[in-house]
Amino acid sequence: MSKPLNILFVSSEVEPFAKTGGLADVSGTLPQVIKDQGHEIRIIMPRYGSISERKFKLHDVIRLKDIEVPIGKEKKIANVNSSFIANVKSKVQVYFLANKELYERPGIYTSPDSKKDYVDNDVRFIFFCRGVLETLKRLGWQPDIIHCNDWQTGLIPAYIKTMYNHDPFFKNIKTVFTIHNLAYQGTFPAAAFDKTGLPEAEFGKEGVEFFGKLNFMKAGLVYSDVITTVSEKYAEEICSTEEFGCGLEGVLQKRKSQLHGIINGIDYNIWNPETDELIIKRYDMRTLEGKQDNKKELLAKFGLAYKVNVPLVGIISRLVDQKGLDLIKEIADDFMKLDVQFVMLAAGEKRYQDYFESLHKKYAAKMGLFIGYNDELAHLIEAGCDMYLMPSRYEPCGLNQLYSLKYGTVPIVRATGGLDDTIHDVESGNGNGFKFKKYDSKELFKTIQRALKMYHDTAAWKKIMKNGMQQDFSWESSAKKYTNLYRNLVKQ
Ligand code: ADP
Repeated sequence: MSKPLNILFVSSEVEPFAKTGGLADVSGTLPQVIKDQGHEIRIIMPRYGSISERKFKLHDVIRLKDIEVPIGKEKKIANVNSSFIANVKSKVQVYFLANKELYERPGIYTSPDSKKDYVDNDVRFIFFCRGVLETLKRLGWQPDIIHCNDWQTGLIPAYIKTMYNHDPFFKNIKTVFTIHNLAYQGTFPAAAFDKTGLPEAEFGKEGVEFFGKLNFMKAGLVYSDVITTVSEKYAEEICSTEEFGCGLEGVLQKRKSQLHGIINGIDYNIWNPETDELIIKRYDMRTLEGKQDNKKELLAKFGLAYKVNVPLVGIISRLVDQKGLDLIKEIADDFMKLDVQFVMLAAGEKRYQDYFESLHKKYAAKMGLFIGYNDELAHLIEAGCDMYLMPSRYEPCGLNQLYSLKYGTVPIVRATGGLDDTIHDVESGNGNGFKFKKYDSKELFKTIQRALKMYHDTAAWKKIMKNGMQQDFSWESSAKKYTNLYRNLVKQ
């Protein structure tokens, strides 16, 4: 067997410590599976104020006290705490880069009150990127690979290829950069560049500059050894048009031969109706009636009546343009006139929140709405609904459609990114869901109607549910793809 690899996995969100979306799910599970496959992997993330010291038994790593991290002409001090995430097989060490001034706040990227990004997010994540490298050096642990995720980590490959390249400690370290969502790039006014300490020459078209601004995501794309993204379809899409490439399609096009699409897996220790502790009744393919108990509980939670043979449609979503909410808005009245019930768990932009609150008022007898973040309710929605709606404008991978498949909750999706790769329309034979191509509310409505019609054919519907439930989206095969990439890089 070949030698195990040393990998540092860098992420700004890791489940169960801090989460705003799918990045946290991936960062909490993929490293464990890579460890299970025999490699040494550790995680590093910022120590946000919301991470409970007591709950996670955080302790100081004494020899990592008072690390100096240069930010422009200043120096800020980092300390490092440590904890673990564990599954039945193995334990992964998690480091938390701490600095009270920068991270001791209620939100991760935005203030929960103003809903605005923290104005010093440039400094917060320059500090993180540089602090990660300074931590490694102090730790004396030399990984073969640093696996970076999304814009918050984008400067790490730039540092490794430029300033830190002269240091024998970093010289042979290879970097992998994973795009979880290209639309969030971390762009800041040019003045932020001085705080990075990167050589002047890197602030140009071939470097970290993007139309006169510092762009963290671009840094990750330009300087990493390999780029990955979270589905094959999204990998194609982001190179093709400005709409998907968000202005970086040219940069991606140039690096196309080093860009790989690797679909996310899901953690069946967390998302599995056979073992899920957060739902009322556990069930599997043979005990599908258990789903009805969850449906009753879910409807009761929202104060809605349980009606036999009336399908319940669910959504769990960030309230942002990406998620196709404008399509739902356009069809909402027609949709609510159908013989359906609808529940939604969502948080995000106020304009969407206001809109769905007004819709809820109008259709209170058949719609349930919870604005906020609630993990327990998310599990119950997956278990209790008959259908799951995800008409995204774009979707790098999407996890909820995969959770839905496992819970026998039939997905209705738009054919984009990971949704297109994982959902196969029933029209094409042995399908696991319903899918439409054009980003158009009429298409969405027709597809919902198609699903509702099929729902009343009990045998056909059960078949669709079972087709989804028996699919395996566990992480093992995707984790293997990552470790093969790592291995190829180390050989170079
Ligand atoms: P994205 O990362 O774009 O938000 P994904 O489908 O990849 O979309 O992942 C979303 C993750 O966040 C899922 O685990 C989903 O259950 C969870 N989630 C989203 N909104 C909420 C919410 N309001 N409450 C609880 N969980 C949520």
